Amino acid sequence: MVKNMQPIVVLAGGVGAARFLQGVVAALPVRDLTIVGNVGDDTEIAGLHVSPDLDTVLYTLTGESDEERGWGVRGDSSRALERARSLGHDAWFWLGDLDIGLHLTRTEALNAGLPLSAVTTQLAGALGLEDRLVPVTDDRLRTIIETPDGDLDFQTYYVRRGHRDDIVGIRFDGAAAAAPAPGVVDAISRAAAIIVAPSNPLISIGPILAVPGIREALLARSVPCVAVSPIVGGQALRGPAAEMMRSLGLELSPAGVAGLYDGLIDAIVIDDVDHSLAVEVEQRGVAVRITNTIMRDAAARRHVATVALEVAGIRLSA
Ligand code: GDP
Ligand code: CA
Repeated sequence: MVKNMQPIVVLAGGVGAARFLQGVVAALPVRDLTIVGNVGDDTEIAGLHVSPDLDTVLYTLTGESDEERGWGVRGDSSRALERARSLGHDAWFWLGDLDIGLHLTRTEALNAGLPLSAVTTQLAGALGLEDRLVPVTDDRLRTIIETPDGDLDFQTYYVRRGHRDDIVGIRFDGAAAAAPAPGVVDAISRAAAIIVAPSNPLISIGPILAVPGIREALLARSVPCVAVSPIVGGQALRGPAAEMMRSLGLELSPAGVAGLYDGLIDAIVIDDVDHSLAVEVEQRGVAVRITNTIMRDAAARRHVATVALEVAGIRLSA
C-alpha cells in the first residue's frame, strides 16, 4: 500500500463484487483500495460467526476461493460437518473444514471483545490480503426477508428454503442503531473515487447504505461514484437479485438499479445487451457507459474494472 494516496473505495457484496475486485487489483498494481463489505448476510451457525460476503471477497482476492461453487475454499473438505451431521447436527449450511477454522478464529476473537473490523483486518493480514477489507459496521446488522409466511433471516430464506418464498419486504435489523466501522466514512470522504460493485443492490449494497452516515458520506462526495450494473439483459447473473427486484415491483434493468442508487451515483456501467436502455438511465441524471460486463475470466474482470475506474476518473498506468 502506498501512503498519502487517496483511497479508491469499493462498496462490495459477495461473488459479483469479488470478481470485480479481482479486476481492480489486476488493473491497479499500485493502489490504496478500501473495500467496504456487507454484513447483512452474517449468521451464527452452531455458535460460529460466519461472514459470507467478507469471506468471499477475502478468499477470492487471496486466490483461495472455490470459483465454481461461488463460496468457500477451493478443494476444501467437509469432514467436520459430516461428523457433526452424523452426530445429529442439522447441517443445512455448508461449512468446509478450512472455512470452519477461520470461523472458529473469528468467533473466538469476537467473543474476546474484538470488533469485527479488527478481527477482519487480522484474518485478512494472516491470509495475505494486500488491500483493506472493512465490514461496513462492527454492530449487529441482519438482513431480514419479509415473506407472506413471516420474517426469515437471510440465510434461512436463501440457503435453507432455497429462495422460493415470495418477498413482501426487506429490512435490516440493527441498521438504525449501527455506526460505521472505524475508517469507513473517512475513506469515503478522502476517496479519489467510489465504486459500487456489481452486487445485489437490495441485499448486498442495501445494508451498507442503511448504516447511518454512509449515505450521507456518499451524498457529500466531491468525487465520482460509479456503479456497475449487476443486472444484465433483464437477469441477474447469479443469486436472487432478479427474483427479489421482481417480487418488490422494481424495474429489472440497469435503470431500475440506477433508481435504487438515486442521488448516490454519477455514472453506471451497463452491458452491451442493455444499450437500448441508456437513454432511460440518462434521463435519471446518471451517465452511462456501455461495455461487455460479463466477468467470466481474469481478462474480462480486468476489463470491467478498467472501464469502471476510467469512468470514475482514475488514470491507469499502462
Ligand atoms: P452474493 O452476495 O454472493 O450474491 O454476491 P453479490 O451481491 O456481490 O453479487 C451478486 C450479483 O453479482 C448478482 O446480481 C449478479 O448478477 C452479479 N454478477 C455476478 N457475476 C457478474 C458478472 O460477470 N457481470 C455483472 N455485471 N454482474 C455479475
Ligand atoms: Ca451475499
